[in-house]
Amino acid sequence: MPLLDTNEIVNKINSMSQDVESALETANYDQLLQSGLQIAILGRPNVGKSSLLNAWSKTERAIVTEIAGTTRDVVEASITVHGIPVTLLDTAGIRETNDIVEKIGVERSEAVAMGADVIIMAISAVDGWTPEDAELLNRIQSNKKSTGSSTPMILVINKIDCIPSDCMEGIEKDINSFSKHVLTSAVTGQGIQGLETAILEIVGLNKISVGSRKWTVNQRQCEQLVRTKEAFVRLKSSIEEEMPFDFWTIDLRDAAMALGQISGEDISEEVLSNIFGKFCIGK
Ligand code: GDP
Repeated sequence: MPLLDTNEIVNKINSMSQDVESALETANYDQLLQSGLQIAILGRPNVGKSSLLNAWSKTERAIVTEIAGTTRDVVEASITVHGIPVTLLDTAGIRETNDIVEKIGVERSEAVAMGADVIIMAISAVDGWTPEDAELLNRIQSNKKSTGSSTPMILVINKIDCIPSDCMEGIEKDINSFSKHVLTSAVTGQGIQGLETAILEIVGLNKISVGSRKWTVNQRQCEQLVRTKEAFVRLKSSIEEEMPFDFWTIDLRDAAMALGQISGEDISEEVLSNIFGKFCIGK
């Protein structure tokens, strides 16, 4: 037997591991195609949340006025981003209020935000980062902490048509709390495309080219891909720790078995009962 070429084996393992990662990204896309995304737009009154929802969905779903506190309940609009069905949720501007109806609206908005997949916090470029914005951010963060949520947040700096774009000093220090920031104008439509790109990046879909996909992943296959990925992670740490080959084979075998269950080469009892449990197969 010739000696094993360690470098070649490690290269092969890395390339297989990348293939599994990209198959898992596809699975993530498939799941989002079914479940869709919910995006809550939060912000203090009058920053342009309703205008943004209308401009983005090209509808007049939400009422826009210059009177603060117009939106008192959650308004929904449906759009598609990169084929993914997205529900936009325009919320009541969050602020301290004594108006009983507005108060209920604010509470609902906060609850909706905690259930969303992505939170957009809108501020106005005209006013910059105000103490009310800071207070709202604190409120969202403490809500997130108490519910254990890790919902990603995008900062939208709206009304950018009103000021030159280099006037945003002072905001940078707060941008750290956000996964991304985007400059928009709900009046001209500027930045909405950038907002869609930011969302795709956050949910990890920017790497998937929808048109060239020739296959999909179902839930059972997805579970096996996750098992394969975990086996590769263990395998890579065995390689880094310079463990002997025998240790590598344990995880390689596990990865091969998981992949075999997808390709049909290794049909265990578990797979058969899973398939028969879901399909009615005649004589
Ligand atoms: P909301 O309370 O945050 O939902 O804010 P609205 O969407 O009701 O907008 C408040 C006011 O700001 C309205 O008079 C809008 O016409 C105006 N507005 C909203 N977005 C923009 C924008 O991008 N540029 C400009 N110039 N005005 C805006």
